[in-house]
Amino acid sequence: MPAGQRPETSRSLRVKLETARKAILLYSASDVSIWPSDKIHRHPFLAGLGPDVLDPALEVGQVEERLRDARFRRRSLAALLLDQAFLAGMGNYLRSEVLFEARLAPGRRPVELDQDEIGRLAAALLAVPRRSYLTRGIAAARGMRRDYLADGESFRFRVFGRADQPCQACGTPVRREERAGRRLYRCPACQPEPWTLSPRSGGSSRQSRRSSR
Ligand SMILES: [Zn+2]
Repeated sequence: MPAGQRPETSRSLRVKLETARKAILLYSASDVSIWPSDKIHRHPFLAGLGPDVLDPALEVGQVEERLRDARFRRRSLAALLLDQAFLAGMGNYLRSEVLFEARLAPGRRPVELDQDEIGRLAAALLAVPRRSYLTRGIAAARGMRRDYLADGESFRFRVFGRADQPCQACGTPVRREERAGRRLYRCPACQPEPWTLSPRSGGSSRQSRRSSR
């Protein structure tokens, strides 16, 4: 806001950056730290972040490498895709969409995936967030102002928020589940969990999943 002015508020002013003309005011923040830009990458939170999926320099091969990394390869995809230390910038909406695009179930783990599956997952981990970003995450709707939409295609959720609606690939109703504490949507036919695939042994499928590795 213009320099010298203050909003009417009872909240406490924590940071003020003010020039002769403009002021930036931060109220009510409980935890503030200010860093010089050449050292900001050493901040403990930022230093713990994985590569940003929207960084154009990030390539599929690097994501594949990360999926094979000892820190990440034994975790369920449901948890891994929410972990900003694995890749930054994913979020809960995109988790469902990425797994659907890669045709992988959230209960699988990178260590169990074959090369083809790793490749599909790595490609989707970059393609889906980038598509969402480029189209601003907005699907065209009737009456929508044109300038809300980027040129060309618009982004549309294919499974997220579509519980009980037919899968666009196979028609099976999309299922809503809680995974790693957040809601997740998947097609049970396109993204079958390994333990629903009735192993030949017929025993506890979770157990056989373990012992097969
Ligand atoms: Zn399907």
